[in-house]
Amino acid sequence: MMKSNTIIILLTCLIIVSCGQENESTSQQKEPMIDREVFGQTQDGQEVDLYTLRNAEGMEVKVITLGGIITSWTAPDRQGNYKDVVLGFNELEPYLGEHPYFGALIGRFGNRIAKGKMEIDGEAYELATNNDLNHLHGGPTGFHTRVWEVISTTTLNNGNIELKLKYISADMEEGYPGELTCLVTYTLTSDNSLHIDYEATTDKTTVVNLTQHTYFNLSGANNPILDHKLMIDAEQYLPVDETLIPTGEFASVEETPFDFTSPKTIGEEINDGHPQLAIGGGYDHCWVFEKVDTVRLVASAYHPESGRKLIVYTDEPGIQFYSGNFLDGTLPSKDNGVYNKRSGFCLETQHFPDSPNQDAFPSVILSPGETYTSHTRYRLTAE
Ligand code: BGC
Repeated sequence: MMKSNTIIILLTCLIIVSCGQENESTSQQKEPMIDREVFGQTQDGQEVDLYTLRNAEGMEVKVITLGGIITSWTAPDRQGNYKDVVLGFNELEPYLGEHPYFGALIGRFGNRIAKGKMEIDGEAYELATNNDLNHLHGGPTGFHTRVWEVISTTTLNNGNIELKLKYISADMEEGYPGELTCLVTYTLTSDNSLHIDYEATTDKTTVVNLTQHTYFNLSGANNPILDHKLMIDAEQYLPVDETLIPTGEFASVEETPFDFTSPKTIGEEINDGHPQLAIGGGYDHCWVFEKVDTVRLVASAYHPESGRKLIVYTDEPGIQFYSGNFLDGTLPSKDNGVYNKRSGFCLETQHFPDSPNQDAFPSVILSPGETYTSHTRYRLTAE
């Protein structure tokens, strides 16, 4: 009797030890890591690398050095199944052509500047135009088309993974004065957040408004985003003219389709004929936050079927909510289909469009000796 008891105890110990080893190897597979591979070459022969950041949960964010573009980002549904929730391409080629800024870092000025004209200290500047008469997202060869230098890749003791990118924008590039040195740090944390820290300095007075242009579809599939429930913590938005330039009015969202103070689906009122929605074929506006300079929760999007939720935190005064209206079925999707109208949405944290020409908007001026900073955090969770 004694003997068989001893055998049972020994066997139990063995099982526990081997299970422990198995767990260890599973957790080893999920060690936070950052990896580099070559993604391709630009037309002028610059190498483009692809970095994969993976945290202990298994979330993966892929970033290429062209435009600091996020090409892929996996997030868990409520069963813990990870799927890619951002729009983009499988290969470099389409990123080198014209595309609607999929996943890209945007600069020197995110959003539109009317007719590409602005004045700084009484001096007039003509910026490159690329959106009919307007200047959009830094111009045709904005930061999204540049190969960024990788300054460092770090796995921190707390399990966070950091990728630091740098781009120096030459004096008068796209018409902007001053050599602008930009640093952008992507940090993937163990709570499934991606922090984006922007920093810039200049040697001449200029304007800066950096943002990130990821298109999300929390279903993890290629279909319309109208079923996502959106919340934007803003009582006002900026109405626009026919060319999507703010009219200068701060309009109340109350009793309009622009009221997302309580979550509602993107589709609920998008087709209700509101004249502001007719202009861009859906939502393509900047919402105005109460003036607070600290990082706070400003918006969220929830996909009821999968349970995936995106939460946005920033210290910026506004957010451009763009419902993917101009996606028109001409660009290849990752699943060998095409990206159709409203198959992705953007929540771009930023200063207001056309700020250089609108005195009532917060300033976007950066002078020598100052440092521009901006912080945004996208957290992907499930409930
Ligand atoms: C703008 C849209 C534009 C899109 C892609 C968004 O940030 O608000 O008007 O079509 O970017 O270019």
